[in-house]
Amino acid sequence: MSLLDALDRGLLDLIFPRDCAVTQMPLDQGPFRHLSIEGLAALPRITDPRCLTCGHPFDGWLEGDRSCPHCAELHPAFGRAICPFRALGPVRHILHRIKYERSPYLADDLVAAATTDEPFRRHLAGSILVPVPLHTEKAWARGYNQSERIATGLARHIPGCTVVPLLEKHTATESQTRLDRTKRLRNVAKAFRLKRGHAVDPSQRYVIIDDVLTTGATLHACAAVLRAAGATSVDAAALAHG
Ligand SMILES: [Zn+2]
Repeated sequence: MSLLDALDRGLLDLIFPRDCAVTQMPLDQGPFRHLSIEGLAALPRITDPRCLTCGHPFDGWLEGDRSCPHCAELHPAFGRAICPFRALGPVRHILHRIKYERSPYLADDLVAAATTDEPFRRHLAGSILVPVPLHTEKAWARGYNQSERIATGLARHIPGCTVVPLLEKHTATESQTRLDRTKRLRNVAKAFRLKRGHAVDPSQRYVIIDDVLTTGATLHACAAVLRAAGATSVDAAALAHG
């Protein structure tokens, strides 16, 4: 293991026994570095039926139009989004640690757990994964882009996927966390653009990748840039639905 790998996985791992990120119990063996079998089982998963546009779970089966009322108002530039988890309980906690507590390595286990979800795998297979970019200042401050880490992990697990960071965020925006849907849409509407020297291939299918889908405003704004550049097939995916 290189020094960089060691730093990435958390130096404390080398000194103290690792704990499960969900149960906080010591973790000696198993397929994951930071998730026990019990922790894995406690992650809130989304199963069918779900909204065919944003992937939000429905409590019951609905005939006919299976988009939720929220999506009907959004008119997203992406075709369909799928999320394997709800951003609740342990998933919410892990995502918070990935993003705000300098624990990007936790994304690797969450990605591995996500890719056991068959609809999620099918949704991504054979596509070009485009991570939601961070503004340069935020990327420098955080030291990594969690969406890029997630996309890279997904491409390792799912056949035929490649990661192409086509987008950049050229405007620093207010945090979306406390904004309602209308304000979120306005906040990110013109924040993204295609990276200089890059182009889209209309024959390819693109999937925008983020950590969490809340209102869909960010994924919509990114998808709109790819559509405007000539992409004909643009979908979206996030690890969790808020
Ligand atoms: Zn929906």
